[in-house]
Amino acid sequence: MSENCSHNCEHCSENCNEREKESLLAKPHDGSDIKKVIGVVSGKGGVGKSLVTSILAVMAQREGYNTAILDADITGPSIPKAFGIHEHAEGSDEGLFPVMTKTGIRLMSLNLLVENETDPVVWRGPIIAGIVKQFWTDVIWGDVDYMFIDMPPGTGDVPLTVFQSIPVDGIVIVASPQELVGMIVEKAVNMASMMNIPVLALIENMSYIICPDCGKEIHVFGESRIETIAEKHGISTVAKLPIDPKLAAACDKGMIELFDGNWLNQLFSNIKTQIKENKTMKIAVASNGKDIWGHFGHCEFFNIYTVEEGKIISDESIPNPGHKPGFLPNFLADMGVNVIIAGGMGGGAVDIFNERNVEVVVGAEGDARAAVESYLSGNLKSTGSVCHQHEHADECGEHN
Ligand code: ADP
Repeated sequence: MSENCSHNCEHCSENCNEREKESLLAKPHDGSDIKKVIGVVSGKGGVGKSLVTSILAVMAQREGYNTAILDADITGPSIPKAFGIHEHAEGSDEGLFPVMTKTGIRLMSLNLLVENETDPVVWRGPIIAGIVKQFWTDVIWGDVDYMFIDMPPGTGDVPLTVFQSIPVDGIVIVASPQELVGMIVEKAVNMASMMNIPVLALIENMSYIICPDCGKEIHVFGESRIETIAEKHGISTVAKLPIDPKLAAACDKGMIELFDGNWLNQLFSNIKTQIKENKTMKIAVASNGKDIWGHFGHCEFFNIYTVEEGKIISDESIPNPGHKPGFLPNFLADMGVNVIIAGGMGGGAVDIFNERNVEVVVGAEGDARAAVESYLSGNLKSTGSVCHQHEHADECGEHN
């Protein structure tokens, strides 16, 4: 940074770090509301990065989240094929529209824009990075809970530029067993830490095969090193995917959305928890100061817990400011609350919280702090106790 830096890059021609930081992050299209962005990276092509991206998106969509895939692997875009999509994306004066897969995942890929999908892409790095950036700025993504980005392979200039232009919440690293022996994974971990992006999971693809006759796992490349590497870098979620001919066939036939494998079940939930833990969040509990109050709208206090990396770092108790229609959910959302825990709640209040992207957990009881801890460890699930029928409907904020 120059000695004379005015912190206003607009009128300065110097090329310094500050300037880069200011100018690189791109603004998404006005028609996009993208909540969480997960980048899937690998050291080189062909290790199953696109496959893992597709699987994660399929699982998120199955859980009911609005899901999108931004295919940033411009020189080897294989996502549309896995979903059986060969049509072209359409646009308007406003921007480009993603194509919908059979189950409703929104997808944008260079292959949806080129005349002939088998034409090679012979562009240089900056052009490729520019296209990816445009997929972020010019595509009208709509409301997206989870966007998965199939990143350009490697840890060079192109993935780096993409990381600098798109606010990625976390990355998933996909590696082959051989790569886990070398330094490729370390490079990806270092790139993430340079960019201050958490590594959410490390996935060893093609880790083993299952004998079709006896069901035994055969570790073709020897014992896996994934646990050791994950431990070294403090990565808590690991997964090993087998070489599964059914999986290759599902991709080839464009039917990845129908695929079911028992190793799939935990993967997305673990990644989701990781993302939650990596963020500072606020959890509000409707209470009497100590215990959870049965009915949201008429509680005495809201206990507000600030959470960092999955741990409560501070708490405060604020008196309920009063029960007026539409007021409390917006009041809490304006305070930056991400989750509300209560005994019961009216449907009106639930709707406002949903609109404000605040997670609602109802049906909870007992000690407020213990409930928050239980939520953070993944044990507190909403019972869906919405008070629209019983005698407390009004008290719970049905008209909130
Ligand atoms: P990348 O995105 O890293 O270049 P892909 O996800 O396109 O790699 O995978 C390369 C090829 O290997 C694809 O044809 C894919 O279907 C196949 N493949 C990847 N992982 C597996 C697996 N675990 N079992 C069977 N086939 C796989």
